[in-house]
Amino acid sequence: MTAKIIDGNALAQAVRAELAEKAAALKATQGITPCLAVILVGEDPASQVYVRNKVAACEKAGFRSIRETYPANVEPAVVLGKIAELNADPTVHGILVQLPLPKHFDTDAVLEAILPEKDVDGFHAENVGALMQGTPRFIPCTPYGVMKMLESANVPLKGAEAVIVGRSNIVGKPMAMLLLQRDSTVTICHSRTQDLTFHTKRADILVAAVGRAKMISGEMIKPGATVIDVGINRLPDGKLCGDVDFASAKEVAGAITPVPGGVGPMTITMLLANTLAAAERTLK
Ligand code: NDP
Repeated sequence: MTAKIIDGNALAQAVRAELAEKAAALKATQGITPCLAVILVGEDPASQVYVRNKVAACEKAGFRSIRETYPANVEPAVVLGKIAELNADPTVHGILVQLPLPKHFDTDAVLEAILPEKDVDGFHAENVGALMQGTPRFIPCTPYGVMKMLESANVPLKGAEAVIVGRSNIVGKPMAMLLLQRDSTVTICHSRTQDLTFHTKRADILVAAVGRAKMISGEMIKPGATVIDVGINRLPDGKLCGDVDFASAKEVAGAITPVPGGVGPMTITMLLANTLAAAERTLK
């Protein structure tokens, strides 16, 4: 059996086209252009690429974007001052700080400084709590994108065994909450899990969010399962690959996301969706 490929690029393109239309309508009827401010501290090459892609996606969808960059040794107070300024600016609807921040920053304090109504990454404690309670304001972009992919592929969620490998605040934990809210039976695995294969092998839906190249092989997958590969790893030859060994997994899975071209493009798409939602909410 060869798995159906869940094409993140195609889905992202379709959703972004819808978002661009909605943004144009908001501008035409209300004079509001959705605006995302992105703050980047330091010169980490991966972060620079992510920020560039986010800004480019905004521009392509007709959103306004603001990019604030600071050297790695900037005083945290300077960045907090900029966040306060952006919080107070009614033309800015979304604010995100690209992570990771340099070691001398208190990351939680920076995330908490963003107004919850503008926290389009969904990392503010208030927004995390709302998600936990089942009344999310902003869903973190990566798990939000994964849910859209599962919906687009018509994957049954109710009663499904969902296994998530990875328990980060950014991916694993919110992913678990979202699947739980859709009535899946959720297991979260992590680095101290005793027998990873025991868990992955019984998953109808397997989400890999670890950051270890090709660690999930075909033998660890239940035949017919839906496999979502969140991982982004760079191989010694410079190529990108996921946490799933695509070649062996696709022979066992029923559906699978590739890397690149899977979850990655959907993450940025849902950032646009959250920014548009924030702009629309200013009318209420
Ligand atoms: P973190 O490093 O924050 O979390 C990794 C998780 O994997 C931890 O919970 C860790 O467990 C767990 N883990 C590590 N080793 C093992 C192991 N051997 N067996 C089982 N679990 C293990 O990573 P993120 O959640 O931020 O990111 C995960 C991956 O997803 C990365 O490759 C990242 O680049 C990618 N990513 C991709 C995005 C996209 O848009 N496609 C967006 C965000 C991330 P423990 O908690 O015990 O340490």
